[in-house]
Amino acid sequence: MSNNPFSHAYYRQVIARAKSAGYTFHTLKQFLEIGAPAERAFVLRHDLDTKPGTLWPLLECEREMAVRSTIFVRVMANDYNALGYTVLPRLREAEAGGFEIGLHTSFVEYATIVGLENMRVLAAETAALKAFFTVHGVACHRDINYAYNSLPWLEQNWSEVRRDLGLSYQAYAPEFLERAVYVNEGFSPHLGWRNLKPEDVIDTGRSICLLTHSHWWYRDHPFEV
Ligand SMILES: [Zn+2]
Repeated sequence: MSNNPFSHAYYRQVIARAKSAGYTFHTLKQFLEIGAPAERAFVLRHDLDTKPGTLWPLLECEREMAVRSTIFVRVMANDYNALGYTVLPRLREAEAGGFEIGLHTSFVEYATIVGLENMRVLAAETAALKAFFTVHGVACHRDINYAYNSLPWLEQNWSEVRRDLGLSYQAYAPEFLERAVYVNEGFSPHLGWRNLKPEDVIDTGRSICLLTHSHWWYRDHPFEV
């Protein structure tokens, strides 16, 4: 395998292989609605950390393959936001075409650095995204050094967050991590699959939650966008 295997062609191959093996594809919300089956369900999740221009080609792959994903987008981030001039229209187009939009947030980090309460930041981000999208889910963004990780606070306060902000799931809940095999990219030390490859899990028939970060995926090379 080359240094960085994450080409769009490879992404299509993974989807095609799962389809041939009898998998059905779901957004996170759909996966919960069908009872989080432990076998042959394939959940596609994108965490849009940075470089939104890298996401559109992956959505195009999914449209070509007639599958849909959940896209977790950032509202309060330094280098892009979901409401930006060129980002909002593409995300609204995606939602209209069957993709799910969710909140990708590092609200504890933001609140700590800026000097605000955690809940106030999370509520503001949720409200801003809900002004333009139907939002059911939230996925915590974890910076590379895990400073001010938001997930422990979210887990501790989930019942209140869920009730007050009108959310129905958070993406690191056991329904996703235990019912499906969690597959994502990571560094060990170079970029690759963190643990299992999707191909290996597909061969077992177990349900899969595939998390990808589009800024690591490319058509011809990693610097094209
Ligand atoms: Zn992230």
